Amino acid sequence: MSSTRDTLRLSVPTPAGELRAEISVPTSFIPVSDIVPLMRSLGEQALKLEEAKVQQAGQTVSCKKGCGACCRVLVPVSPPEAFTLKKRIEQLPAPQRDRYLDRLSKLKDTLNEAGLLGRLVQLSETRTQLSDADMEPVNQAYYAQRLPCVFLEDEACSIYEFRPAACREYLVTSPAEFCQDMTQPAVKPVSVPFRIATVLSLMWAKLTGGPARLIPLPVALDWADRHADENKSYETGGTLLEMGLARILTLLRQQS
Ligand code: SF4
Repeated sequence: MSSTRDTLRLSVPTPAGELRAEISVPTSFIPVSDIVPLMRSLGEQALKLEEAKVQQAGQTVSCKKGCGACCRVLVPVSPPEAFTLKKRIEQLPAPQRDRYLDRLSKLKDTLNEAGLLGRLVQLSETRTQLSDADMEPVNQAYYAQRLPCVFLEDEACSIYEFRPAACREYLVTSPAEFCQDMTQPAVKPVSVPFRIATVLSLMWAKLTGGPARLIPLPVALDWADRHADENKSYETGGTLLEMGLARILTLLRQQS
């Protein structure tokens, strides 16, 4: 079945230069999760500008395949991304899907024993807007466990194509070995002009009237199950893209 699409030309002034993109979006109403790949690609293009800036300053990004040191932090996932992740996991061949679900079940048992699972579920369902400061204690408690992400295999991401936006945005210029303890000030992350999980969660808040929620990755599939009926076609592809752009521009303005 063919669908009509609009092509939009974007120009976004980021601190590392002008982000220019030509984007094709459906003119029809689409589930909010369908805008996720597009928004992630915008975030990646903005990050490429930051990487180029870093290189011009004589530094290099030290992140490489096979180094999964940062895959032990608590990854925040926006609601549209949680729906996308659930769909992609369901589409995987059964052995791979079951492997992830089995690891996830064990991870949740470990988190439960550590007294963290209930807090993560609470965070995923909160009706209150949480700040970075609110999240800090749980982020620290989670990282202290050094639990590898369930999608990490041989220290590489096994869902690389559809990994969350937050995972795409973490790059460092400091030596890789420093990331064995990411709380150390010697770890130098590349700056991120705008966070796509934040953009998507702000869009979600506008569409649903709830808080700009970020869901911890270990409970994201459960959240998407509980809220499956909320992944509706609220707006057309073009309107969703415009909403996302407006939030990107707001986040950029707040930084300058
Ligand atoms: S999804 Fe992939 S990149 Fe993100 S934390 Fe897990 S293994 Fe690492």
